[in-house]
Amino acid sequence: MTDTSQYLIQQEPFYQATGREVELYQAAYRSRLPVMVKGPTGCGKSRFIEHMAWKLGKPLITVACNEDMTASDLVGRYLLEANGTRWLDGPLTTAARIGAICYLDEIVEARQDTTVVIHPLTDHRRTLPLDKKGELVSAHPDFQLVISYNPGYQSLMKDLKQSTKQRFVAFDFDYPTADAEASILQAETGITADVAGKLVKIAHTARNLKGHGLDEGISTRLLVYAANLIKDGIAAGDACRMALVSPITDDSDIRSTLNHSIDAIF
Ligand code: ADP
Repeated sequence: MTDTSQYLIQQEPFYQATGREVELYQAAYRSRLPVMVKGPTGCGKSRFIEHMAWKLGKPLITVACNEDMTASDLVGRYLLEANGTRWLDGPLTTAARIGAICYLDEIVEARQDTTVVIHPLTDHRRTLPLDKKGELVSAHPDFQLVISYNPGYQSLMKDLKQSTKQRFVAFDFDYPTADAEASILQAETGITADVAGKLVKIAHTARNLKGHGLDEGISTRLLVYAANLIKDGIAAGDACRMALVSPITDDSDIRSTLNHSIDAIF
């Protein structure tokens, strides 16, 4: 038997709502609708799902998807042991059995044959066939599937098929508004309103460069990193270069634009 309590979130994860998403998610959960959270990296998607799992009191199993992931990594496989083989459930199967919320982060990274295994779980069947084991798992009534999706990264080669997309209700996420983002930084790290406001300004400079040399702007996650460094006594300029500039680009023109903005703002 799986110990369900290990997947329960004990403490409330801080989440600052930006709209009616909490109420709408609760409605989606009541109908056990599969949910897709869309938006750029580091804008609060995972934090939202952690918060909702805590609020609903349901276990949460998160899987970071990658291109090497196979269906067996999600569903399970036989393990070779000294005296034979033993079946080991994958995270999706465990979630379906125990009634967890299963959060597949960046599902589009996974190969298409992997995405297909979620199909029978996302319609009226709510089942998961374990082909290799010859078992059909019926999902626990509390089970819910959630996937995240970053529209910015998608290309024709790598996108979810309509037949997959049209199995979900979706929440559109984006970076929070300037005021909301500054208060998130304060709440997460304890920095002053003044420093928080300045960090958000730098992020806005970078976000305006999206599509003009930058694939993606500075995320809220990176702002939290910079805020933590500043809180720890690192000079703002060093913290910003380390957390906000160096990770996102190697282009010297863009770096110098961002560095100018940091020097002007701090
Ligand atoms: P992703 O969209 O990639 O899943 P995360 O949910 O991990 O991003 O967010 C990255 C970080 O940004 C979080 O760890 C948290 O510190 C902060 N964050 C972003 N949005 C919010 C929010 N609305 N409330 C609280 N923290 C947030």
